[in-house]
Amino acid sequence: MEYVDSLLDLIGNTPLVRLGRALDGAGASEPGQGPLVLAKVEYLNPGGSVKDRIATRMIEAAEASGELKPGGTIVEPTSGNTGVGLAMVAQRRGYKCIFVCPDKVSEDKRNVLKAYGAEVVVAPTAVPPEHPDSYYNVSDRLASQPGAWKPNQYANPNNPRSHYEETGPEIWRQTEGKITHFVAGVGTGGTISGIGRYLKEQNPDVQVIGADPAGSVYSGGTGRPYLVEGVGEDFWPDTYDRDIADRIIEVSDADSFAYTRRLAREEQLLVGGSAGMAAYAAKQLATELAGTPEGENAVIVVLLPDSGRGYLTKVFNDEWLAQYGFATGEAAKQTVGDVL
Ligand code: PMP
Repeated sequence: MEYVDSLLDLIGNTPLVRLGRALDGAGASEPGQGPLVLAKVEYLNPGGSVKDRIATRMIEAAEASGELKPGGTIVEPTSGNTGVGLAMVAQRRGYKCIFVCPDKVSEDKRNVLKAYGAEVVVAPTAVPPEHPDSYYNVSDRLASQPGAWKPNQYANPNNPRSHYEETGPEIWRQTEGKITHFVAGVGTGGTISGIGRYLKEQNPDVQVIGADPAGSVYSGGTGRPYLVEGVGEDFWPDTYDRDIADRIIEVSDADSFAYTRRLAREEQLLVGGSAGMAAYAAKQLATELAGTPEGENAVIVVLLPDSGRGYLTKVFNDEWLAQYGFATGEAAKQTVGDVL
């Protein structure tokens, strides 16, 4: 009989899928014939995102160090993918989970966390950070209770470590060591730092490329607002290793969203905006390499962090896009360069 003991056993070992049509001719269909662009499809993790990986690793490490004791409570200020991963693993292992979300987080997102058995505390955004009800103060207060443990994905070394020990080796094995370029969006920096370090240790010639929303610090911005979610920062987290990325490609919200829509239509990859952003950077790279001697044997792997299902009312909603002046509907089907 073929079965696993727990859904959590299915975390990781996500497939690589070759991108074709959406590369507008810049990508090869076989190795050795130009840049081969392969997407690492992380929404196929059981919790729906790459964050299942770090949740497992952070919890296991905290159990081993004694920071998280049997029956303890996990407290994290998150509303998204990390929360889902933590909630799944916590439920399985008998921990309580409390997530603190700003009030702007959609009810749908909060309900997903509750569905996995977590408690969600909503903090008002209209109060200053020093206010006792602020997002920061509420989560700090909860985390200082006896038995509470805060994973803190922005400073926890087990975040990049999970990618160094699992995701990086998977990519190396899946590409039979032929990977030449790795592209990923940067949020906490855990993904790019862990995978990038592993790949460079195997072959120092592997190029690591970060994709970043225009405005974020990684591409030299000041933290000015952008709409793509889960990537870009207005500070430098401890989980980002500044020595890994060889290059950062800045991508606008408009290009990220238009390309996210194209991936769903042309590659059947219904992914989130940060995946569209990373894939757009990978396409730009493939376009630069196409027709060059370096490009002939290039194998570009781009990591797609999560599913588009969480963004149906945003990236996949024409009214929402139009409200910000972005291309919609038929226009979004065309080449990004044609419409923007
Ligand atoms: N995309 C999405 C949707 C995310 O939630 C995250 C994590 N913040 C990322 C990309 C970036 O990954 P990392 O934090 O490892 O840099």
